[in-house]
Amino acid sequence: MTTKEDIRTVVKALKANNFNVQYLDKAKDAVPLILDLIPRDATLEMAGSMSVVQLGLQEKLKERGNTGLEFPRPGEVPSRKDVLLVSTNAVTLDGKLVNLDGMGNRVAGMIYGVKKVILLVGQNKIVRDLDEALERVKMVIAPYHAKYLGLKTPCAYTGECNDCDSPMRICNITTILWKKPPMMDFTIILVGEDLGLGWDPAWPQERIEKIQSTYRKEIQEFMAKLPPPPYRSK
Ligand code: SF4
Repeated sequence: MTTKEDIRTVVKALKANNFNVQYLDKAKDAVPLILDLIPRDATLEMAGSMSVVQLGLQEKLKERGNTGLEFPRPGEVPSRKDVLLVSTNAVTLDGKLVNLDGMGNRVAGMIYGVKKVILLVGQNKIVRDLDEALERVKMVIAPYHAKYLGLKTPCAYTGECNDCDSPMRICNITTILWKKPPMMDFTIILVGEDLGLGWDPAWPQERIEKIQSTYRKEIQEFMAKLPPPPYRSK
């Protein structure tokens, strides 16, 4: 279970690791806060985040005129963007951010090259430590994500990672942010509700099913906007 004590611990650790952190009880309250943090003329870096999709933030940003929300095409040289709005796969109790990525676009902006990073994080992304973060992402989250992206990776069929050689492999790059990258404007908005894809198999089934069913609903919409392979199967 995620406890209030876990949340207090994570907020304190993230601040000690030099991140700007705001905690909100309700996920819906993150919407006006994030819109305020992003200038109306800012170009955004698009990276897959179910947490962002779940709150309808892409549509709201598009409606008010922000640009750059299209997914990059293979071979496209990314131009420098103003803001990356994304989530993280896991955040440890001692304030480290852990991410696995297929192409690298999602994690690259968290490290360098984007002026401002805003990370939207649900309480369900909190893990005990780095070992639990990697275990959860590779053995639980990536197989589930691969299955509903319609990828032909072994994990999409078996539900378990076997460190595959598939051309559709979605975990080619692992990043750990131990501390905030020094020159970056980096804000983490942690919410006291479940958001995006992340759970511990030991949690009550009802909680896991709620996270999964919300994800399944949102992934359909996300898939419809993806360019052709290699992002998705034919
Ligand atoms: S390495 Fe391959 S099998 Fe393992 S989680 Fe990633 S895509 Fe799935």
